[in-house]
Amino acid sequence: MKVLFWGVRGSIPVPGPLTQRYGGNTSCIQLETGVQPVIIFDSGTGIRRLGQLLAARGTPQEIHIFISHAHWDHIQGLPFFDPLYQSGNRITFYSRKRDEFCLRDIIHKVIEDPYFPLSHEDWKADVNFVELEDGAGAEIAPGLIMRSSRLNHPLIANAYRIDHQGRSVVYVTDTAPFDHMVLDRDFIPKAPDLSAPVAPEVAELLAVMRQNLVDLCTGADLVIYDTMFTEEEYNRNPHWGHSAASHAMSVCTQAGAGHLVIFHHAPERTDDQMDRMMEGIIEQYKDVDMTISPAIEGRTIEID
Ligand SMILES: [Zn+2]
Ligand SMILES: [Zn+2]
Repeated sequence: MKVLFWGVRGSIPVPGPLTQRYGGNTSCIQLETGVQPVIIFDSGTGIRRLGQLLAARGTPQEIHIFISHAHWDHIQGLPFFDPLYQSGNRITFYSRKRDEFCLRDIIHKVIEDPYFPLSHEDWKADVNFVELEDGAGAEIAPGLIMRSSRLNHPLIANAYRIDHQGRSVVYVTDTAPFDHMVLDRDFIPKAPDLSAPVAPEVAELLAVMRQNLVDLCTGADLVIYDTMFTEEEYNRNPHWGHSAASHAMSVCTQAGAGHLVIFHHAPERTDDQMDRMMEGIIEQYKDVDMTISPAIEGRTIEID
């Protein structure tokens, strides 16, 4: 199994000299299992380059794209995903089932005039949308198992796990920890008081969500986790729905994961600041039996 990082940034693309080493494109990760389909997590701006390479293969592709949620940084690259405009390709989108709207409608709405000169009617690929109930899983191809779990984020994001031939990767973005508040459909406009006691029913729901995520990560070779915040940034904006490294470590150690990848980097974090942040995290957890490394655009991680 091989994980390729095409976009590692959160919130908004930030190209330029200050972010060149870690990369400025937003969320997009490819998982190569050696068999069809091509597996992609999210379609931030990083998917454009991946799409060019897939389209250049010149053969019909089976592509499965797992969308965490529809915030801009996770879908913004889609209009530029070349395989959509090639006949013969079969592209399946997976997302969380929602009561109020579906991913197909969201994507159709933002890929049309006046936002973009083309629309979904220009797609030549056979495109399908699969909506997943809470905690749904499926064998998406022979021996290729997908599982999912909800995260703690405004609009609600889904985490995904893929297992193949005894190897496993989990994609966990975007999420707040499961300590203080449940983030659901609505955005909480003001940071709550973190020292206030959590209502028992809220604590209970958070505990269930956290346990489901720990189960999803159990024994995983690699967990890619939203660690956009420093501890101090989390304390300032806990209602934004992102984690710090300590929150990811807490889930990953309990789950016995082998390797944590620090992901969804804050747009304002420069390469030098990322270096310092990584040094701090690695030093803090040097006694924990787990590899910790950063997501870097263009990086490939092989899982043997
Ligand atoms: Zn995001
Ligand atoms: Zn988000």
